[in-house]
Amino acid sequence: MKTFVRASWMIVFAALLGGPTHALAADLSISIDFPSGSGRVQEIDRATRAIRLEPTPHKGRGWSCWWFVKVAGIAPGETITLTVGPPPWATPDHAAYSIDGGKSWLQTGKGERTKTNITYRQKIDAPEALFAWGPPFTPDDAAALVKEIASKVDGRDGVKAEVFELCKSNEGRSTPAVRLTPPASTDGARSRGLFVCARQHAWESGGSWVGRGFADFLVSDAPAAVALRKRTIVYFVPIMDIDNVAIGAGGKNQDPHDHNRDWTDKPVFPAVAAAQAIIRTLDKAGTFDLFVDLHNPAANDLKPFFFVSEQDQLSDLGKANLNRFVAESVKQITGPMALDPKTRPSGPAYDKNWRAISKNWVGANTHPGVVALTLETSWNTPNSNIQGYKTVGGQLGAAIAAYLDKKD
Ligand SMILES: [Zn+2]
Repeated sequence: MKTFVRASWMIVFAALLGGPTHALAADLSISIDFPSGSGRVQEIDRATRAIRLEPTPHKGRGWSCWWFVKVAGIAPGETITLTVGPPPWATPDHAAYSIDGGKSWLQTGKGERTKTNITYRQKIDAPEALFAWGPPFTPDDAAALVKEIASKVDGRDGVKAEVFELCKSNEGRSTPAVRLTPPASTDGARSRGLFVCARQHAWESGGSWVGRGFADFLVSDAPAAVALRKRTIVYFVPIMDIDNVAIGAGGKNQDPHDHNRDWTDKPVFPAVAAAQAIIRTLDKAGTFDLFVDLHNPAANDLKPFFFVSEQDQLSDLGKANLNRFVAESVKQITGPMALDPKTRPSGPAYDKNWRAISKNWVGANTHPGVVALTLETSWNTPNSNIQGYKTVGGQLGAAIAAYLDKKD
């Protein structure tokens, strides 16, 4: 789908009104004809170099909160005014922008809010710029990342690393994933099992970037990472809701429900069914220990935190292990986005469909000692950028390694 607006009539109009005629730069235009593109133009005012847009609505595909547009026709050095909203979910204090075609992402200055929208003003030293809710992470990025992980790890220390297709989505898209298999142990110690995924909610691109940071740790030469790889079966899925990420839809609360309310005996989404099958198989073999689901939280959650299962859903061993994992995470995730040591339960008081939330399903369908949780990494802080997200992900990796290392 493509939106392309030429606003030259505004110049004519402005000229007729005696408006500014010095703006001889090319027409400002907006396009979204690329993966994860989203943005419906409400107005482009060429005279004032101002653009107003809202996330592209996708009926039945969840919250309209993700936006990602290309602005062309910029006179390098000029300031572009971009107004976005509603809803508030779409309006971070600092938007992400790129002037190198998405290779690197920066944050705009702090936007100015009204009740319904936010306005960013950003000087752009290029003829084109990308603007987005947050740093995008597309299906192509997911495919490249799992390939990179496999190529960096495969064959080292006897570890086998394979890219595989988690599933074909309901719309036929390939869902990239990677599996690390450790060598058979020589001392009789059992393998540990870890499953990490992101983007059950398509708009929460920060989850994939935290995953990217986790991956950087996983493939690194840090002794803790090497030890982790040597005895852990690792599954990593950078994007679960590949269909909505591909088309730039929000995904959250989509019809009939989103991926993170799909963990039942009859999942609607192939990615959930495939993840469940992997987790069940690992657990049956006695090689499953930890499930981490990566998300972005509400706008006013300014510290990362874990959602966990209600206490009455956990065994004594489950509680003890959960507490140990959270303690390791508090030790590791120290900033610039430091983890809130206080976890939050997502049980019946949180959502009537709480049983269909990933970690609750994992907890209920695996051995009592398994730890399953959701990491919510803040998206509305000055550190909610690629570097900040990756730092949280690397620190999460260190916490995972420390936790699994001490596990019997
Ligand atoms: Zn989420």
